[in-house]
Amino acid sequence: MNDLMAKILTIAQENGGKRVVSIDVWLGALSHMSAAHFAEHYTHSAKGTIAEGARLNTELSEDIDHPDANSILLKSVEVEDE
Ligand SMILES: [Zn+2]
Repeated sequence: MNDLMAKILTIAQENGGKRVVSIDVWLGALSHMSAAHFAEHYTHSAKGTIAEGARLNTELSEDIDHPDANSILLKSVEVEDE
């Protein structure tokens, strides 16, 4: 989760973003994350950063044979520059 947050903040900075509006993430079937659980972790690690309060679009995979089934993948980050 800290890795993911670092990635989100890096992308936001590279795009000159002042605020993260929304993120799209893909939750692997074996990542032990539900959308609600992910949101809890997100809220906790985003607190005090420009990613705080972003809208979370989560896609929960059910494919346990997927090569990334253990992972959480960041699909996109939408930032706002003002
Ligand atoms: Zn947890």
